[in-house]
Amino acid sequence: EQEQRIRTQRLESLGTLAGGIAHDLNNVLTPILMSVQLLRQAEDDPRRRDMLDALDAAAQRGAAMIRQVLSFARGSQGRRAPVDVVALLRELARFCRETLPASIDLRVEAPDRLPSVSGDDTELFQVLVNLVTNARDAMPDGGTLVVRAGECDGSVRLEVSDSGHGMDDATAGRILEPFFTTKETGTGLGLPTSAAIVKAHGGDLEVRTTPGEGTTIGFTLPADGPALGAAGGWPRREPAPDP
Ligand code: ADP
Repeated sequence: EQEQRIRTQRLESLGTLAGGIAHDLNNVLTPILMSVQLLRQAEDDPRRRDMLDALDAAAQRGAAMIRQVLSFARGSQGRRAPVDVVALLRELARFCRETLPASIDLRVEAPDRLPSVSGDDTELFQVLVNLVTNARDAMPDGGTLVVRAGECDGSVRLEVSDSGHGMDDATAGRILEPFFTTKETGTGLGLPTSAAIVKAHGGDLEVRTTPGEGTTIGFTLPADGPALGAAGGWPRREPAPDP
C-alpha cells in the first residue's frame, strides 16, 4: 500500500512536471516565434538588432529551463571523487565576475587551503551557482554577496549570503517545494535540486533569512580524510592508495 502511494505521488509530480514544462516552454517560444515573424517582415529594419537580442534572450532562457528540469530529474548521480573545494571557489568567483551586475559587490571569504570533500565537483558547482543566482535575484538594486568557506571539526562549510530582500516565514517554509517560485520567470527547481545534491553529499541545506535584510544559505560536508593545515599537501593531494 505504501509502495502504491509512493507510485501515485511520483506519477502526480511527473504530471505536474510535464504541465509546468509545457507552460513555461510555451512562454519562452512565444517571443521567439514573434521575433522571427517580425524579422521576416523587416529585412532592413534597424530594430532587427533588438529583435535578435530578444530571440537570443528567449532561446537562452529556454535552454536554461531545460537544463534545470534535467538536473532536477537526474538528482545526484552518486559519482564520488576528491573535490578540490578551493578550485571550486575560484571557478565560482570567475562565474560571478562574468555574470553578476556591477551593482553587486562580491566578496569571497575563504582560506587558501581546505580539505577536499568526497563528491561530484560538477554537481557541487551547480549548487553554488544556484545559490549565487538566487542571491543575485534577491538584490535587483544591488548589494553585497558573500561566498564564505571554512573548515571546522572535520567538516567543510560553504555559505552564500546576500543583503537582498530576504523572505517572510510563509515563503521560507516553501522554498524546497518543487516548482515553488516567487519569480516571474523562475522554475522553482533550483533549491529542491540543490537540496537533493547536498543531501547526497552528506549535508543539509540550511537557510537563515530576515525580510528586508538578507539571506544566508549554507551547508556543511564531511571532509574527505583529515583536514590539511599549512603543512599539508593541499590542494595537490592524491587520493590514498588502496591498501
Ligand atoms: P527559482 O529561483 O526558479 O524561483 P529556487 O528553487 O531556486 O527557484 O528558489 C525558490 C524561491 O525561493 C525563489 O523564487 C525565492 O522566492 C526564494 N529564494 C531563494 N533564494 C533566495 C534568496 N537568496 N533571497 C530571497 N529569496 C530567495
